[in-house]
Formats: sequence, structure tokens, C-alpha cells
Amino acid sequence: MREWSDDRKENPLEQVHPGHDLPARRRDDEGDFHDLMPSTCPDCGCTFYQAKDDPSIIWEPGTAWEETCRDRECHCHNDPVIGARRS
Ligand SMILES: [Zn+2]
Ligand SMILES: [Zn+2]
Repeated sequence: MREWSDDRKENPLEQVHPGHDLPARRRDDEGDFHDLMPSTCPDCGCTFYQAKDDPSIIWEPGTAWEETCRDRECHCHNDPVIGARRS
């Protein structure tokens, strides 16, 4: 399947810079781009992201544990919400 973002690379705002720690924008599960802001999981200390325009849309790390993770069984790793609202 062709990546939808390939058609829109004229717009630098929608590019995620490879290798950069903090992705500027991500698509949610409906394909809409959002500016991201980092936040800290209260349960394990790992970083997840919230959409600036709608903080209820979040991207959790899944299996990308951080060194400082306090609980690798945390919901943000075992049952990550990716570009959606936590139900
Ligand atoms: Zn967590
Ligand atoms: Zn963690």
C-alpha cells in the first residue's frame, strides 16, 4: 500500500524527521495529522505523546521501553493506544 504522506511531501510541516527524538507530527488512526506534545506516563514514567489540538488523542510507546521505565507491564506498553482516544 502506498504511503499517503508521500503525496504531500511539498509541505515540510507534515514531515517527520528521521532520527529526531521528538516527532513533530503524527497521524491519528483516522489519517489526520496532529502536532504532538510529549507527556509522561504517570504509571511507569515513559514518554507518550498527546495531540496539541486534542490532548485526549494519545500515542503510547508500546514495546519502546525507556531506560527509566518503572513498570514494563504498564498499560502503555501492554495495551498501547496509538493515535486514538483511550477508551
Ligand atoms: Zn506507562
Ligand atoms: Zn514504561
